[in-house]
Amino acid sequence: MSDKVLVLNATYEPLNVCTARRAIVLMLKQKAEAVEMSGRMFHSAENAFPLPNVIKLSYYVRVPRGDRRRVSRRAVLARDNHRCQYCGSGTHLTIDHVIPRSRGGDSNWENMVASCAPCNARKGNRLPSEANMRLRTNPRPPDPLAFVIMAVGEVHGSWKRYIDYAVA
Ligand SMILES: [Zn+2]
Repeated sequence: MSDKVLVLNATYEPLNVCTARRAIVLMLKQKAEAVEMSGRMFHSAENAFPLPNVIKLSYYVRVPRGDRRRVSRRAVLARDNHRCQYCGSGTHLTIDHVIPRSRGGDSNWENMVASCAPCNARKGNRLPSEANMRLRTNPRPPDPLAFVIMAVGEVHGSWKRYIDYAVA
C-alpha cells in the first residue's frame, strides 16, 4: 500500500485513496496540493517527483450521503465488521435481505446485513420476527471513512490524524 495516497477534500475531510501516479497528475494540474510528503520519489519516464502520502483537493467535492453510496456485498460485510448480524459468527458469511427480495425487500443499506449461512438458511423466506430472530444492529448507510478503510484494508500511519479529525 506504500504507493497509495490519501485524498482529502478541500475541507480536510478524507475522501478516498488514489494511486501515486494519480496524485502526481492532480498536483501537476493544480487540482490538489501535497499536505504530507512521504520522503520518497515517484519516477515517471522522464521525471521524478517528490511523492506525497496525503494530498488535499483545491476544490470542494460534494460527497453523496446515505443511500446514494453504492451498496455492495463487500461494503455491507465491512460495515458489519464481518460478523453475522444475527448470531455474531465470523464464518461462512453471506448477505441477508432483512425483508426478503421475494417479498419486495430492496437491495439498500437498510435492508442488507451480513449473515452466516446457517442463520440465513434458518431465516429463509421470512422476516426476522417471523423466524424469531433479532438483528444486533440497526442497518444503516456506513460512515464515509468506512470506504477509505475498505479501499486500502488498513490505515497508513500518516493518515491517522486526518481520519481521527474527521471522526471527532
Ligand atoms: Zn449467524
